[in-house]
Amino acid sequence: MDKHAQKIAADLLHLRGQVLSKGDPVALPLVSSSMFHLPGDPEGAAAYGRVDNPTWDALEHSLSVLEDAPCVAFPSGMAAISAALFATLKAGQTLLIPSDGYYVTRLLSDRFLSQFGVRVVQRPILGFADGGFDGIDVAFIESPSNPGLDLCDIHAIATAVRKAGGTTIVDNTTMTPFGQRPLDLGVDMVVASDTKAPGGHSDLLMGHVATRNTALRDAVLDWRKMSGAIPAPHAAWLLHRGLETLDVRFDRMCQSAAIIAPALADHPAITAIRYPGLATDPAHALAKRQMSRFGFLIGLTLDTKDRAEAFITGCRYLRPATSFGGLHSSAERRARWGDDVAGGFVRLSVGCEPVDQLLADLMTSLDRLMSK
Ligand SMILES: *Cc1c(COP(=O)(O)O)cnc(C)c1O
Repeated sequence: MDKHAQKIAADLLHLRGQVLSKGDPVALPLVSSSMFHLPGDPEGAAAYGRVDNPTWDALEHSLSVLEDAPCVAFPSGMAAISAALFATLKAGQTLLIPSDGYYVTRLLSDRFLSQFGVRVVQRPILGFADGGFDGIDVAFIESPSNPGLDLCDIHAIATAVRKAGGTTIVDNTTMTPFGQRPLDLGVDMVVASDTKAPGGHSDLLMGHVATRNTALRDAVLDWRKMSGAIPAPHAAWLLHRGLETLDVRFDRMCQSAAIIAPALADHPAITAIRYPGLATDPAHALAKRQMSRFGFLIGLTLDTKDRAEAFITGCRYLRPATSFGGLHSSAERRARWGDDVAGGFVRLSVGCEPVDQLLADLMTSLDRLMSK
């Protein structure tokens, strides 16, 4: 981890400590109140639970230190993505999205935004810049893409989009700010699902928007107030707690993935592998340039759907589940949701188990396939 990320990780644990008075709880209190004591002139005080909550304030303070930018918290990643898109787009404008990114972003664009007169254009992440950005008002990037783990050059795209007069948004869910900092690469806005690694315990859904552009931040905040897409205080409190261990968990997960990926790549039951940290991966050179870690996701292909299922269910330390980024390693065949990937493609999310145990378990399950 570089010095800047180390400082952020240390600061995150002591933000609240800077404002405590004698006798205050060190841990963040959970405030669940719709009403606030508000006699007379309402200026300058918490007023109503759709607009103000001290537990959100503490969470957004932590998120803003993590992102190095003001943040607005949302009740899910999709709520954050909706806020970012509805706050930036107008009828008659053009939105460019990945054809191979998170599928619900595509559904939202095709089923709802297009009905309000937004033209939606799709391109694969590999080749996202092909065709240029003239006439693109908002470019929405996912790199590495979920689930294919393709990359695109975020800085080059953000620069070209800005030159063409557009706005760039990056979905940074797969990396978190400890692995990649798109705002420092020049993009206007970051969105993320905190349901994944930031929450980290598979017990909450949350998301956030981060931006250094005051007008965009105000628009996103207004969207939250008026649409009512507000986080529940309990989920905000859980996420605040999760953020305090994100650095430790993310570090373990990325280190383990770096040990597991080469071992899987050499196994005869695996026909293809994607992991940006492998020197043989087509995205490796770009990953080294724009990411500070290679992440904890590995894309594996086995030769059939049945073999892929048998691999997953044959592992003791792997939960067969959708979603990723939790303490517990998990995996699933993405073709079961209709993603445009091979039937035997498995997205593996490396968790926090001690790596020797996890690796031995994965290898045993793969070896068993070969002896059948
Ligand atoms: C999970 C995910 C989302 C949606 O997040 P929710 O918290 O489930 O709403 C968006 N983008 C990516 C890349 C994701 O993996």
